[in-house]
Amino acid sequence: MKQLQAFEYELKYNGEEECSLRKFAGACRFVFNKALAIQIDNYEAGNKYISYVSMAKQLTQWRNSVETPWLSEAPCHSLQHALKDLDRAFKNFFAKRANFPRFKRKAQGGSFRYPDPTQIKLDQNNSRIFLPKLGWLHYRKSREVLGELRNVTIKNRGKKWFISIQTEREITPAQAVTTAIGIDVGINRFATMNDGSYIAPLNSFKKHQSRLRRHQKNLSRKVKFSQNSKKEKDKVQKIHIGIANARKDFLHKITTTISKNHALVCIEDLQVCKMSKSSSGTKEKPGKNVRQKSGLNRNILDQGWGMFRSQLAYKLHWNSGMLLTVPPQNTSRTCPNCKHVSEDNRKTQALFKCVKCKYENHADVVGAMNILERGHRLLACGERVHLDRSRKQEPTEVSQLGFN
Ligand SMILES: [Zn+2]
Repeated sequence: MKQLQAFEYELKYNGEEECSLRKFAGACRFVFNKALAIQIDNYEAGNKYISYVSMAKQLTQWRNSVETPWLSEAPCHSLQHALKDLDRAFKNFFAKRANFPRFKRKAQGGSFRYPDPTQIKLDQNNSRIFLPKLGWLHYRKSREVLGELRNVTIKNRGKKWFISIQTEREITPAQAVTTAIGIDVGINRFATMNDGSYIAPLNSFKKHQSRLRRHQKNLSRKVKFSQNSKKEKDKVQKIHIGIANARKDFLHKITTTISKNHALVCIEDLQVCKMSKSSSGTKEKPGKNVRQKSGLNRNILDQGWGMFRSQLAYKLHWNSGMLLTVPPQNTSRTCPNCKHVSEDNRKTQALFKCVKCKYENHADVVGAMNILERGHRLLACGERVHLDRSRKQEPTEVSQLGFN
């Protein structure tokens, strides 16, 4: 089986090289935005969508134009790729998979891609890579790049620039794992398995949280656009990046372990936005620790659940396993012993006790047991099964995290 994988490293560069990185990212953003503006005007004039090919022809004119001479300094393939990105965004929009494409802003931090592997030279022994119009660039090597080079993306994050090297390689599916597992995700326990084991939420967020609050407060006191406000802004941004990295690391570790050890993983087909609402509870039954659960912590989890699911889906696919999503109705109210369904079975957030047969267990474990049972039933009866394989080829950014 072929596997796409991205290896990400921090770039090392001098002032001149950084200037080029900024210029190229800016040129790609310019091309993307210009083409988008043309498409909008064209649409408003009642004309048909302009295809990638004819847009690329216009690009040649822009590159030769006296108005935008700096465009010809940027690598041609990267500019074309910006048009391809826009074309894909439109196709997703036409297929109702995405919103209408938006203009790119400078503040988003730029990126550009070298799509042609024949123009790239990778010298791993010296931790450097050759890229058209940039020459040899060094990177902080944290691990070996594996597989055949496919493309390279350069991106800006905060004050740093990173390189993401995408490769393709043949992998042999891991040895046959046949076990099945049900997982219940939640706020107090990030994930609970049907065998009673669970994964606690990442605690290091708390540390980040207080730092973030402090700096956000500082920021609000500073005069807008002043030098000091800019400094504080950079600090806040740095903390956000730190949080994002910690979350990515945390999720990659657990999804790798789960996908290596289980062939069938069942989870609830929950909408993430619905989940985070539940912490506030209802009027009759207000949720506990509402304040603690809202704010940053919730924010982190909101993003975490979606990532958890998509990572599980593609990692299981790599290992020839399967992610099965089951309907969520009553998974926390059904007794796994006698199948009695009642809201009263759930005594507290944590305790499940069946009003009929007195079966007792942790409520999240009961949830996971029901999810697994439901998954087995779906497979056995051929009921409508939703296989979550939508992101089977999604590459990972494992290099930075230092594990396989
Ligand atoms: Zn019961």
